[in-house]
Amino acid sequence: MQTTPLRPQIPTMNAVAPQPAPLMDPFGRHVSYLRVSVTDRCDLRCVYCMAEDMTFLPKAEILTLEELERLSAAFIASGVDKIRLTGGEPLVRKNVMSLIRGLGQRIGPGGLRELTLTTNGTQLTRYAEELFSAGVRRINVSLDTLDADAFAAATRWGKIEQTLDGIFAAKAAGLAVKINAVALKGVNEHEYDRMIAWCGEHGFDLCLIETMPMGDITGDRTDQYLPLSLVRSRLKQNWTLEDTDYSTGGPARYMRVKETGQRIGFITPMTHNFCESCNRVRLTCTGTLYMCLGQDDAAEFRAMLRDPGVDDAALRQAIHDAIARKPKGHDFVIDRRQNRPAVARHMSVTGG
Ligand code: SAM
Ligand code: SF4
Repeated sequence: MQTTPLRPQIPTMNAVAPQPAPLMDPFGRHVSYLRVSVTDRCDLRCVYCMAEDMTFLPKAEILTLEELERLSAAFIASGVDKIRLTGGEPLVRKNVMSLIRGLGQRIGPGGLRELTLTTNGTQLTRYAEELFSAGVRRINVSLDTLDADAFAAATRWGKIEQTLDGIFAAKAAGLAVKINAVALKGVNEHEYDRMIAWCGEHGFDLCLIETMPMGDITGDRTDQYLPLSLVRSRLKQNWTLEDTDYSTGGPARYMRVKETGQRIGFITPMTHNFCESCNRVRLTCTGTLYMCLGQDDAAEFRAMLRDPGVDDAALRQAIHDAIARKPKGHDFVIDRRQNRPAVARHMSVTGG
């Protein structure tokens, strides 16, 4: 039974809060970005992300929305200024808007600089306007292909119209949209020119992602893996890709597509390790904090959150202690000799 107050001692944006010591890891990286996986469940089954017959976590193990908000608030009080909600599919969690509205109230000086989310877009026609009014201004929507059949195959259960309608509802609501596409050999590798043109036409940035070896999926990852170094040199035959120093503080390297004016980002954990500039940690919906996407070391917060004797100062101390254990980087490899996941958990657990 939870007896701790749900909204304890969080300084309001108007109060003069003491500046917290920045969260620094042992390698001098300043951790200011928290990704929160609000559910491991999803209404799709993307082939690189999940097996078709996934077993999801029992409800008792999942933090309540109030627990997620309290823990997120402790991160904010420790200096985190950007939160991205993810999953699983964040928008399939019941009442998720109450969490989003609660976090949205923490946007402002001394609090969050940005609140955002990554979604598959299926629920955006319902939520886009509410997201905007809660303070969200940018979202990432996963869309690996513009071809309806390829979309149905890549997501196993998805209908492309639903995601496209969601994307345009988000645009209409005033949200800046970035399209995320996982580069998949034989699935979308001949579509990037079309996707760049489509994103240019609608004012969306595009981010291509190398598939990462996380969790068992049905099938062989070596069949899916497409190095982005190869993709980028192919794209340069048709597009003028200009260097930019634009950064979202994340692992993507961005270039400007001169012909469309939009940005294209490349997330290359396999061909180029981005760990040296890593500023983030990831919280699962069960209250496990992974300090690295590709390593197993973690800090557990659920028991603390459910212990009436643990106050927010103790939560903040535990956050500092966890960051002090952040590892230097991941060891992702995909090849035929090592065709096992680098970590057993799926991306939908840690939150992509
Ligand atoms: N359901 C939401 C969505 O699809 O956007 C949020 C969660 S999903 C796990 C977040 C991102 O991780 C998506 O862009 C997805 O394409 C990406 N992703 C999932 N599994 C991946 C993998 N094994 N390698 C690389 N990216 C992956
Ligand atoms: Fe669901 Fe996102 Fe994973 Fe696809 S990538 S199965 S939409 S969590």
